[in-house]
Amino acid sequence: MTTTPKGTAIDIQGCSKLYGNFVALDDISLRVEPGEFMSFLGPSGSGKTTTLNLIAGFTEISRGEIRLGERSIVNVPAHKRNIGVVFQHYALFPHMTVARNVAYPLRQRGIARADRDRMVAETLAKVHLTDFAHRYPSELSGGQQQRVALARAMVFDPTVLLMDEPLGALDKKLREALQLEIRRIHRELGSTFVYVTHDQEEALVLSDRIAVFNKGRIEQIGTGHQLYSEPKTLFVGQFIGESSILRGPHRAAGDDTALRIGDATVTAPGRPRDAGDQVILLRPEDVTVQRPGTGAVDGRSNLLRGRVREVIYLGSAMKYEVVLADGTAVVARTAMADEPFAIGSEIELGWMPKDGKLLTDDGSVG
Ligand code: ATP
Repeated sequence: MTTTPKGTAIDIQGCSKLYGNFVALDDISLRVEPGEFMSFLGPSGSGKTTTLNLIAGFTEISRGEIRLGERSIVNVPAHKRNIGVVFQHYALFPHMTVARNVAYPLRQRGIARADRDRMVAETLAKVHLTDFAHRYPSELSGGQQQRVALARAMVFDPTVLLMDEPLGALDKKLREALQLEIRRIHRELGSTFVYVTHDQEEALVLSDRIAVFNKGRIEQIGTGHQLYSEPKTLFVGQFIGESSILRGPHRAAGDDTALRIGDATVTAPGRPRDAGDQVILLRPEDVTVQRPGTGAVDGRSNLLRGRVREVIYLGSAMKYEVVLADGTAVVARTAMADEPFAIGSEIELGWMPKDGKLLTDDGSVG
C-alpha cells in the first residue's frame, strides 16, 4: 500500500557545529525529500547524532540554515517543530502504563481526553501493542519497549520522525524484525523519516537514500546501489560493502588510468579527479580466480598473479583471499567450483577494466 507523502522536506544548508574550537560538523548541506526515508550512516563520532539534534532542536547550530518545508526552524524551539524523536534508550516513564506513556505528548499539547484515547488506541494498533496498553514498561521486552517509544513519537502525527539508533540495544533477530516494522510504519504514515545508524546493512534495508558521514562532513548521498556501485570517495567505497584496494604509481593511458602493480599494469576507466595518489577499488564479485597463464577471458584483461591465502565456502559461492607479491590482499567471489584452488596455490586474478573504480587515496582505511 502506498500513501501520498504528507511528510515535510528537510533542507540543511551550510550548517556547522562547533564545540569550543572543535568542529563537530563542517559546513554540511543536505535535503531530505517529503516522505523520504533517509539514513545517516558513518563511524562513531562522525556527526550523525549532532545533525539529528540540530533538526530536532536539541542543539543550536553555529552557522547555517535549516528549513522544514518552507519554514526556517533555526529559531523555533524543539517542542514547536512538530517532530517525533526516538532514541536508542527508550526513555519511557517507568511509573506510567504503556497507554499513558503514549498519551504523554498529547497531554502536553492539551488534546481533549476523548481524542487522546482514540489517538492512543489507533497508534498502539499500528505498532501491534493494543493488548499491552495497561502494562508498565518493566513488564515489557526490549523490543516491545522500543515499539512503545515509537508509538509515543508518532502519536501526534508528526510530519518528520527522527530516530537515533533505535534498535541499537536489541539482539540481531529482534532488530531485523523491527526493521521490517519500521519500514511498514514509514509506508503507512508517509512522514519523512531520518534514521541514524552505524550499521550499513540496517541502512541498506531501511532507506530510500543514505548520507555517509565522516569526520563531520557528508562524503556522499545516494541510494544503497549508487553508493556501492559508484562510490565518490575511497571512504565510501570501503564503508559500504566488501572491497579490495590496489595502490601503485599511476599514469594516464588514453581515457583510462594505468596503475603499476609489481611487474604488471592494470587499468581503470577515467582520469584522476585530482593531483593526489590514485587507487583502484574492486568488488569481490567482479574478480575471478584462474590458473596462471590463462590470460584474458571474456574481457577480463586486467591480470595479476597471487597466492591463495584463504578459501571460504559461502554455500552458493566461494570466496578466495589472495595475496599479491607486495602483500596486498585481494578478495574474489566466484561460483562454486568442482575443483577449487587450495590454500597456497599460485593463481591469476582477472577482472574487466570497467569494473575497477578509480578513486583518490584519501588516507582512509585499507
Ligand atoms: P556515534 O555513532 O558514536 O553516536 P555520531 O556520528 O553520532 O557518533 P556525534 O555524536 O554527532 O557523532 O559527535 C560528533 C563529534 O562531536 C564527536 O567527536 C563528539 O565527541 C563531539 N561532540 C558531541 N557532542 C559534544 C558536546 N556536547 N561537547 C563537545 N563535543 C561534542
